[in-house]
Amino acid sequence: MSTLETVSTLGGSGSASAIALYARHTQGYDQRVAAAVATLRQAAAEHRGTVVQATSLGAEDMVITDLIRRHDLGIPIATLETGALHAQTVALIDRMRVHYGVEVEVFKPQAEAVVQFVRAHGEQAMYESTALRKACCAVRKLEPLSRLLDGRTAWVTGLRREQSDARGEVRAIEPDGNGRAKVSPLVDWSWADVWHYIATHRVPFNPLHDAFMPSIGCAPCTRAIAVGEPFRAGRWWWEDEAAKECGLHVKTGSE
Ligand code: SF4
Repeated sequence: MSTLETVSTLGGSGSASAIALYARHTQGYDQRVAAAVATLRQAAAEHRGTVVQATSLGAEDMVITDLIRRHDLGIPIATLETGALHAQTVALIDRMRVHYGVEVEVFKPQAEAVVQFVRAHGEQAMYESTALRKACCAVRKLEPLSRLLDGRTAWVTGLRREQSDARGEVRAIEPDGNGRAKVSPLVDWSWADVWHYIATHRVPFNPLHDAFMPSIGCAPCTRAIAVGEPFRAGRWWWEDEAAKECGLHVKTGSE
């Protein structure tokens, strides 16, 4: 029996409750929650009117949205809709609007740029080379992200240090390399913390997390992972580990 099959038996049909699997109250949890609120408060005060939560709609970002709303921090929420997301991910945007009574600003790629890219390289271009995969991310993610961040001096992300080696040095507030502050309030949270918070506060989340997808991106570029695989192993799984960022969290400047 494979490791994935071993875990699948927990849910009986290839799925299991992410809360049952991951949520744990561990030492220092309350302090980490307090520190996350303090980080968000600091960002809201220092970047009044020019800070935004750029949510990926992943579990960490759902926790952050809940913290923002629960503590009335006044940080607006925006997301990227790449045109290649799972239906469950897109549906989560409306679930957030209903659950929190909040506006979620949605940024989409320029339709003509997507058409031209697909016409030139096909629907499966991301599997052909890292260069083409990054080109797809540039059209569907980076260009709309630049509009999402236009006029902003800070943005809030769900980065955690344990997500990958590449994120092991992330600080709670640091320059993003493009003249803005990047705010990562869950930087020292564990995966168990994230799910304990979600369970405790009944935070809405993507049901794909119950299908062994801890890190969810576009549908063609996300797969379930097996027990023991790294957190982001299901993202761009055909590429080397070192290439596995889409450019959203890669510093381009010298700050
Ligand atoms: S994650 Fe995949 S589908 Fe989404 S923008 Fe990047 S290459 Fe394209």
